[in-house]
Amino acid sequence: MSENFPQPTDSAAVPRFAGVPSFFRLPVLASAAGLDIALLGIPWDGGTTNRAGARHGPREVRSQSCLIRGVHHATGAAPFKLARVGDVGDLGVDPIDLPNALRLIEAGIAGIVAAGARPLSVGGDHLTTLPVLRAVAKAGPLGLVHFDAHSDTSDRYFGDNLYTHGTPFRRAVEEGLLDPKRIVQIGIRGSMNDRGKHDWALAQGIRIVFIEEFVARGPAEVMAQARHTVGDAPTYVSFDIDCLDPSMAPGTGTPEIGGLTTREAQQMLRLLDGLHIVGADVVEVAPPFDLGGITALAGATMLFELLCVMARGVAAARR
Ligand code: MN
Ligand code: MN
Repeated sequence: MSENFPQPTDSAAVPRFAGVPSFFRLPVLASAAGLDIALLGIPWDGGTTNRAGARHGPREVRSQSCLIRGVHHATGAAPFKLARVGDVGDLGVDPIDLPNALRLIEAGIAGIVAAGARPLSVGGDHLTTLPVLRAVAKAGPLGLVHFDAHSDTSDRYFGDNLYTHGTPFRRAVEEGLLDPKRIVQIGIRGSMNDRGKHDWALAQGIRIVFIEEFVARGPAEVMAQARHTVGDAPTYVSFDIDCLDPSMAPGTGTPEIGGLTTREAQQMLRLLDGLHIVGADVVEVAPPFDLGGITALAGATMLFELLCVMARGVAAARR
C-alpha cells in the first residue's frame, strides 16, 4: 500500500544540500487532497509583542529539515511509509492586516481539514495557532498538549487588543475550541508583569507544569501526567520553540533561560505516541536571531518527532 505514498527525494540521486528545499524533501503539492498529514508553513508574525522574525520560520525549518532521514532512530517509525505525507506549501497570509491574516489562516486550514488531512504546521508566531484551532475544532472542544516557556493565556495588550501571541489559548478557551480541563502546559517559566498572571488559567482548570515541577519529576512522569490530562479524546499539540533553553534555541522572539534541553523535549514528544492527535504545530522559530541554524534544526527535528507519532496514529486508525 505504501509504495504509492509521497516519498522524500532520494539522497543517493540528489544530495541533501541540493535542490529546492521542502519539508523533509517531500513533494510540494497544490492541495492536501489524498494526504493523511499535510505539512505547511504559516509565515506570519503580526501577533508578536517583542522581537519579530517568526515570519521567516517556515523557510529555514524547511531548509534544515532536508537533513532529516526517513526512519526514527529510537522508535523505528518510518512516517513516509506509515502515512501519506506531503508539503502543501505556505499559506498566503496578509502581513499587515491582523483580522484578515487570521481569516486567511483559518480558511487555509479549513481546506486541509475538508480534504481529510491533519495539519502539521510551522509558524509563525503563536497567535497562528488560534485560527488553526478554529478550523480544526469544528466537532467540539479539543485537548491540548502545549510546550512553551509561556502560558499564552493573557487577556489584553495595549488597551483592548485581544489578539497577540500572548493570548491565543485564552481566546481558544473562550471560543469553546479547547476544553480547559484537558489542557496541559509544560515548561512554563520567566518573570511576570504581576503575581496573578496565571490565576485565570489555573481557575479554568488548566494544568500548568512549571519548569520547577518538570525538573523535580522528569520527562516520563510529566508525560504520564499529560496523557492523563488529555485522555483519549481528540487533542492538538502545540510546540513553542521557546520552551527550549535559549542556549539550544536562541532564534526566537521571547527567550527565557532555564528551559528544556532538546533531548528532554524529544523524549516528551515520543511519549505522545497513541494519543488521538488531530493536528500539531511548531511555532516561534525566528531565524533573524538564530545562530548557525541551530534553532531551525531543533524546530525541524521536533517537527519530525511530531510527524512520527502522528503517522503512527494514522496507521493505527487504518488497521
Ligand atoms: Mn507561545
Ligand atoms: Mn513562548
